[in-house]
Amino acid sequence: MKLIQQLRQDTFSLSFEVFPPKTGSAFQSVQAATEEIAKLRPAFMSVTYGAGGGTSRYTLDIAMNIKRLYGVSTLAHLTCVSSTRESLHAQIEDMQRYGIENVMALRGDPTPQSLESAHVGPYRHAVDLIHELKECGADFCIGGACYPEVHPESADQREDIRHLKEKVDAGCDFLTTQMFFDNNLLYNFLYKIREAGITVPIVAGIMPITNANQVERAIKLSGAHMPQRFKSLVDRFGNDPAAMKQAGVAYATDQIIDLYANGITNVHVYSMNKPDVARKIQENLSDILGKSC
Ligand code: FAD
Repeated sequence: MKLIQQLRQDTFSLSFEVFPPKTGSAFQSVQAATEEIAKLRPAFMSVTYGAGGGTSRYTLDIAMNIKRLYGVSTLAHLTCVSSTRESLHAQIEDMQRYGIENVMALRGDPTPQSLESAHVGPYRHAVDLIHELKECGADFCIGGACYPEVHPESADQREDIRHLKEKVDAGCDFLTTQMFFDNNLLYNFLYKIREAGITVPIVAGIMPITNANQVERAIKLSGAHMPQRFKSLVDRFGNDPAAMKQAGVAYATDQIIDLYANGITNVHVYSMNKPDVARKIQENLSDILGKSC
């Protein structure tokens, strides 16, 4: 199913993300975690694309299995920064062959190995990939990334939103946000993008931080601001894995409830191949999910 149909509805939609294995030997364990998450019957599941494209085949295998074996809609991520025209066209053909209907069109971050091709390659930004997806004749529903706290490479938010509008005008059907830990940042961002004429559905990306080591990685990856309320929680529970997990799930749940109460109906959880975390969040929202269906 094309995700845009679902994302335009007023009902609450909770979805989860998995990432592909780096090696073939880890495929089975990722597949098993994916199956557990799919059994929760989320609105959809996304499958990320390894930096540099090294795990692209696994992305498609896992995305196809989610749809075929469990009947859950999938969103396959695709990056372009290290692609040549030929490799990208081959990738798009594979997606069509695998029956992929929904694509998250991303630039990606150049790896040290791909840095050279990133500078000379034909796809400098996600907008170039969106043009290519539109021109290839395939009828994909296309998602793009957006950054409530501004992409680290942008000079300022105005410039970032101007480029975001170009992505939407090129054919992006919906946008998923980078993780954020303070909902007010999203509300402020939404106001600004709506004012800039961006009207596509926004999917709020929520990352449950369930161990103290994740904190540094998450900040480095996203540049997200950590509110004092969250820092206190890590200070208090960071050395107790079980307590930290419970507190992290509670914090993410609280963010999601506040989002829904403020009219945000599409929430995507960066569940990081952790079925127990996905299940717990879904359980915490059971009455809310039940009543919104
Ligand atoms: P772009 O939209 O190209 O934006 C990148 C920067 O370039 C921004 O500063 C933007 O303002 C600027 N820009 C855009 N267009 C232009 C232009 N025409 N001229 C000048 N500047 C421009 N990475 C992966 O490797 N695999 C994944 O599966 C993956 N999934 C992600 C999912 C989400 C929801 C998010 C938020 C990020 C994901 N990423 C993933 C990370 C992403 O690849 C990086 O954040 C990357 O740095 C930017 O990708 P983008 O598609 O937003 O790029």
